[in-house]
Parts: sequence; C-alpha cells; structure tokens
Amino acid sequence: MSGIVIVGAGQAGFQLCASLRQAGFTGALTIVGEEPALPYSRPPLSKAYLAGEAARDALALRPVAFYAEHDVTALTSERVTSIDRAERLVRLQSGGIIAYDHLVLATGARNRPLLVPGANLPGVLQLRTIADADALMAEMGRARSVAIVGAGFIGLEFAAVCAAMGISVTVLEGAGRVLSRSVSAPMAAAIEVAHVSAGVIFVYDAVVSAVTGAARADGVATSDGRRFPADLVLVGIGVLPNGELATDAGLAVSSGIDVDAFLATSDPSISAIGDCVNVPSPFADGARVRIESVQNAVDGARCLAARLTGKPAPYAAVPWFWSDQGPLKLQIAGLGTPHNLAVVRGEPASGAFSTFCYRGGRLVGVESLNRAADHMIARRLLQSGASLAPEQAADPAFNLKALAL
Ligand code: FAD
Repeated sequence: MSGIVIVGAGQAGFQLCASLRQAGFTGALTIVGEEPALPYSRPPLSKAYLAGEAARDALALRPVAFYAEHDVTALTSERVTSIDRAERLVRLQSGGIIAYDHLVLATGARNRPLLVPGANLPGVLQLRTIADADALMAEMGRARSVAIVGAGFIGLEFAAVCAAMGISVTVLEGAGRVLSRSVSAPMAAAIEVAHVSAGVIFVYDAVVSAVTGAARADGVATSDGRRFPADLVLVGIGVLPNGELATDAGLAVSSGIDVDAFLATSDPSISAIGDCVNVPSPFADGARVRIESVQNAVDGARCLAARLTGKPAPYAAVPWFWSDQGPLKLQIAGLGTPHNLAVVRGEPASGAFSTFCYRGGRLVGVESLNRAADHMIARRLLQSGASLAPEQAADPAFNLKALAL
C-alpha cells in the first residue's frame, strides 16, 4: 500500500492530512512541499506578521510534533517535478521517487509577474511566502515611500500596514476603483475613503509601463508619461494557479486544475484542492470558479478527506473570505461578483455596513465591513438558500437573524 501523497504543503495540503487522520484514515500519508517551512498560515504575512505583531512561530498551522504524532511523512524543500500516471509515482527534483495509490495536488498559486522593464530591479517585491514577507520587512525598515501596483487585497493590506508605519503610500491601479473584481462599488468606495483618510494616494486607470531606477528601483512610470517616485515597489496584481504539473501529466487544466464536483481530476486516482483548482460551484450556477481563500482550502480538503474515507459528497460549502486593512474588517460571504444589484444595509459613513449583492434576482453574496454579525447571518442564508428580498435587506428594521435561524 503506497497510500496518499499530497503535493504542496500549504493550507489545503495540511488540512487534508489533519482531516484524513481525523476521519480514521490509517494508510501511509506523505506531504511534499518545496518551501523550507512546514505548512503555515499566509494571511498574517500581509497583516500582523508584516506589522511586526506576530512571531514567526505563530504562523505554523501545527507544531512540528503534529506530523510525527499523526504518522505523516512531511518533506520540506522538496519539489515534485513530474507525475508518472501509468506507474503511479511522482518524481522529486532531488532525484527521489514516491509511489501513490491516490495523489492529491494542493500546489496553490504563485504571484503574477509584472512584465515591464525594470520589474526585476532590487527594491521590487511581491508577497506570497514567509521569505517574501521577511524581504519586504527588511525593505520597509528603510523605505520612506512605497508604490503599490494593484489595488487588490494584498495591495490594500500592505498599504494599510505601511501607512500605519508612517511610510507614504501611492497605489497604482489599472481599473477605475479598488477591488474591482472582488467587491461592489459601494463597498469599494467606503474602503477607498478609509485608506485615503490614512494618507494613501490612489491613482486609477494607471497602466504601469516601467519600474524606474538604475541599480535599484526608484519609482514607477505609467504609460501616460507620469512618474511616481518610491523607495520600494510592491507588485500585487493577482496570482496564477500552479497547474503545470497537472498539464504535463495530461490532466485537464483550464483556469486552474479542472476537477469535478467531488474534487477529482480527469484521472480518478488524482484529486486537487485549494487555490490551484477550478471547480464547478453551486454558488456560481454550476460554472467553474477558482477561489483563493483559506475557507476554500480548508473546506475543499475536508470534502476530499470524506470521499477518500468512504463518505463522498459534492463540494458545496458556502465560500467566504476576510481581509483586514488597518481598522477595516471586511468579510465576504458567497460569490457576489458579478452582480446586477447591490443593496446597502447600514450607513457607509459610519464605517460599518453591509452590501447585499443580487444576480438574476437572487442573493449571491454579502460584503460586510466591520459588521461581523451580518457576515455570520449571510453565510447561513446562503447555505440554506433562504430568499431575502432586496427591500428586506435594505430595511434596518427587518430581522435578518430570524430569517437565518
Ligand atoms: P498554498 O498555501 O499556496 O500552498 C501551496 C504550496 O504548494 C506552496 O507552499 C507551494 O510552494 C507548494 N508547491 C507548489 N508546487 C509544488 C511542487 N511541484 N512541489 C512541491 N511543492 C509545491 N485568504 C483568506 O481567506 N483571507 C485572507 O486574509 C488571506 N490573506 C492572504 C494574505 C497573503 C499574503 C496571501 C499570500 C494569501 C492570503 N490568503 C487569504 C489566501 C490564502 O492564504 C490561500 O488561499 C491559501 O493559502 C491557499 O492554500 P493552498 O494550500 O491552496 O495553497
């Protein structure tokens, strides 16, 4: 019995180990990760860890002892370079070979590179790993100004940490507002206001054409001829799924590794979970989605562990996400973008409100800013499919909690 082999020692891979053992799986279990660290939590990298408020040890998802106690062989600094589906084995860059009965791809995603002149200069950084965060922190210690390319979650979280440290921050965004692919216009507006009041400068419709500087970056240029000086440049323009292993092995891969509703790839002996998968979702009317969140990594792993231990069920957990940006606690339930109606509940000017997003007359997502109770209710509403009319959502006197019970 060769057991289960997991490629990728991140959030999803770790959770699968834990859930398999919890579900009573007694076979051999091996997790292979290319990073030097055992599985750790990435969210603090752009929040408490970056701000110097969380120690490195606190990032570990479990202490080292967990792996021995649960009879998990955890290999670090080992990259899987190919899959031999006929022989059911994976090859490691170090020359090793590991046989599997079932293979799980939990390879995550990597940062999308900025493809402009100067993007490889020292002083241009991205953020995905502990190593990236450590490099950024070293640079932040001496930077007086930063230019951030991309007003997505990573860019905005980084902006909040820098602004709180007194570093001057300019965010250059190609779209016309922050978080254009992730939240509704009213929510984006409120988030922008909060960052601006902390001193952050936004430049929209900005097409970054170059990173300037000779020996190291000293700013960013845009295609309309403007230049934004900066001691440090952070690129936060999204991620690319790590699907190459799957592609090379002849598995179906589109925008991520294609899996069915049970998280199986086009080879029944290989499954995939986490940021790397492209999965049909009941929350997107059955369309395939690739979700980058802790919830998706954790719930996908739990769903797969259940199938591999004899309790198959389709993956149908409500998607949810959070982002902390200084004093802003944003929580999102469901897949609310795109939507054709966004209804505000509460008062945006107060800094605490929710936006209820409708598509085709149906509630599909709820964004809550500093309103955790709304978020918890929204998750229950979306899971149960209870109907909530837009007028009810907007009415502060309407008892949402009662509907969600
Ligand atoms: P990962 O955690 O990326 O793990 C995949 C691992 O596989 C990596 O270590 C990779 O190096 C390894 N790997 C890839 N290919 C190979 C190979 N061939 N051989 C060996 N190893 C390989 N989500 C939220 O919900 N809320 C947040 O606030 C939030 N904040 C975030 C902040 C930051 C800075 C980042 C980077 C992410 C954040 N996320 C957040 C997203 C969340 O961390 C990811 O969705 C989650 O980590 C995905 O887990 P995963 O296991 O699929 O991938």
